[in-house]
Amino acid sequence: MRHRIAVVGAGPAGLAFARVMHRRGHPVTVLERDPSPDARPQGGVLDLHEELGQLALDKAGLLEGFRALSRPEGQAMRILDTDGTVLRDWRPRPGDLANPEIDRGHLRDLLLGPLGVQWGRGVARVVPGTPDGTLVHFADGRREAFDLVVGADGAWSRVRPAVSPAAPHHTGVTLVETSLDDVDARHPDLARLIGDGALAVYGVNRALVAQRGSGGHVKVYAQFRAAPERHADPGPAGAEAVRSDLLALFDGWADPVLELVRRGTAFVRRPLYVLPASHTWAHVPGVTLLGDAAHLMPPLGAGANLAMLDGAELAEAVAAGPGDPDGAVRAFEERMWERAGRWARITAAGLERLVGPDPAEALALFDEVQPS
Ligand SMILES: Cc1cc2nc3c(=O)[nH]c(=O)nc-3n(C[C@H](O)[C@H](O)[C@H](O)COP(=O)(O)OP(=O)(O)OC[C@H]3O[C@@H](n4cnc5c(N)ncnc54)[C@H](O)[C@@H]3O)c2cc1C
Repeated sequence: MRHRIAVVGAGPAGLAFARVMHRRGHPVTVLERDPSPDARPQGGVLDLHEELGQLALDKAGLLEGFRALSRPEGQAMRILDTDGTVLRDWRPRPGDLANPEIDRGHLRDLLLGPLGVQWGRGVARVVPGTPDGTLVHFADGRREAFDLVVGADGAWSRVRPAVSPAAPHHTGVTLVETSLDDVDARHPDLARLIGDGALAVYGVNRALVAQRGSGGHVKVYAQFRAAPERHADPGPAGAEAVRSDLLALFDGWADPVLELVRRGTAFVRRPLYVLPASHTWAHVPGVTLLGDAAHLMPPLGAGANLAMLDGAELAEAVAAGPGDPDGAVRAFEERMWERAGRWARITAAGLERLVGPDPAEALALFDEVQPS
């Protein structure tokens, strides 16, 4: 008998799940709130680790496609002191494919491939254990029943309350994102400053990181410890206020570094929220969670990787035991919790060191994780 399976959310977790299921001959229903694939910009770049995100792509048969789209040179990392002195200038060796960068939009297109996503289907809540199975209530009032609903709907998951009362809490760190376009032609000085990959500058309780994507697009992330009232999104009208706020916050830093903020366009505030590092739940038949919905953690290069591996592994488990999807889900959850808990503790400790009182800790962390 073919089970009715839905995944809520067409992010890295949901698409990896759907794509591996598709490859194994078990199509699933993908429910996405965004009205269309182009409804919002997909944002910056992701580095996909060999043993996490790339492994998931391999399970989906998409590793070659990833290699064609990703930028191994984007692994380069330059660290400056706040006065502009170069402290580290690390470049990958030729052929190093440990953590290549890929634009989020390219990754999404790669994962989407032949999948038939149902766009504009925002889920309001999920009720497991009804006589017809797990009931999905949509934002427009409609309802539909499935045997298994996989919640891959991110930080503010509407599926999560069906299994767990946990809610994200603020880390104390806020990130403000801005962008530079076509840097090689329009800002050649900043293009040289950033190099092929990322540039990071660490100060006391604050950091500035610039990361190059394809086509000369750069995302700049200002990170700092801030009280919750700084969290309202300024909208286009407030951009200049945010810019001067940031320039005051980073006052005294080297001029070329501050140019990243002076010339940035479109500011977006992203207060960093996390779920408890050891988030688990008593298994509920007919529903589970993946990715940020299950284990939201600081954005230190693991979240999308784990989300995709969750998706690929759950799909393999369910496809391997089609008679008993619930048993497969149970076993998968145990594995996901153990791995995610480990990474949640690593990234939480990392955030404390990268945006903390002693900038030398940020440099020490880089030296610990980067091969020399
Ligand atoms: C600034 C920044 C930089 C980052 N850099 C990296 C990095 O380099 N490497 C890395 O591994 N991770 C990185 N991360 C983390 C990464 O972005 C997330 O961990 C990852 O996107 C989680 O994937 P997901 O599929 O679980 O959730 P999401 O990417 O949040 O996708 C959830 C999807 O569900 C949809 N959805 C939401 N609610 C509903 C609903 N009610 N009904 C239907 N659909 C819904 C959303 O529209 C979305 O498409 C970064 C995060 C940030 C903020």
